[in-house]
Amino acid sequence: MDKVKVLQRYLPPDAAPLIGRWIDYFKCEFKISRNRNSKFGDYRPPFDGKGHRISVNYDLNPYAFLVTTVHEFAHLHTWNEHKHKAKPHGTEWKNNFKRMMQPFFEKEIFPPDVKAAIVSYLNNPAASSCSDLGLYRSLRKYDAPKEDVHTVEKIPVHALFKIKDGRVFRKEEKLRKRYKCTEVATKRVYLFSPVAEVELIKD
Ligand SMILES: [Zn+2]
Repeated sequence: MDKVKVLQRYLPPDAAPLIGRWIDYFKCEFKISRNRNSKFGDYRPPFDGKGHRISVNYDLNPYAFLVTTVHEFAHLHTWNEHKHKAKPHGTEWKNNFKRMMQPFFEKEIFPPDVKAAIVSYLNNPAASSCSDLGLYRSLRKYDAPKEDVHTVEKIPVHALFKIKDGRVFRKEEKLRKRYKCTEVATKRVYLFSPVAEVELIKD
C-alpha cells in the first residue's frame, strides 16, 4: 500500500506526505510499533549492516504520533551530523527538533493549545527527555475516549469487570483507600486501586 496512505491513518493527514519524504530521503526503516511499552518512540542509528531505524507506537493520537515522529527524526538527523559526539537530547538535537517542527507549524497542523505546549517545550532548555509531562498532557487530551474503559471507583458495587490479562472480578465494598474485588473464577479477594482501569462487563 502507498506509504503516505498508511501514515495518514496515524498522523494528521496533511503531515503524512512530508514524513513519507523524510523516510525516503533519510533511507530510514520506519516501523509503526504494536509493542505496548512506556516509550512513545525509538531511534536506532545504523549498526551491523542495518540503516537508520525509527519506531513509533501505533496507539498515540495523531498529534502525539507526529511530535514523537519528529522527535525521532531529529535524533536521526543529529546522528548524521555528529554521530556519537552529540548527547541524545543535547543542544544539537534540540536545534534539529525545533527546525524540523517548523514545516508542521507553517502548515498549521496543530490546534493552538498543542502548538503552545510544543513551543514552550522547545524553548525550555531544561526539558530534555522524550516524555515532557506538560507537553504530553496537552497531547493526551486528543486521545479518542477509550470504549468500555472505566475505573474501579466509577463502576457500581457488585458489577463485574475484566482486567487486561482477561481475569474477571466482582467489585465489593471499599476498604480504607482500596476496593475489595473477588476474582470470579477462584473466589479469591484482591484489593484494587480506585483509579485502576478496568473493562466493565455488561450483564
Ligand atoms: Zn529522544
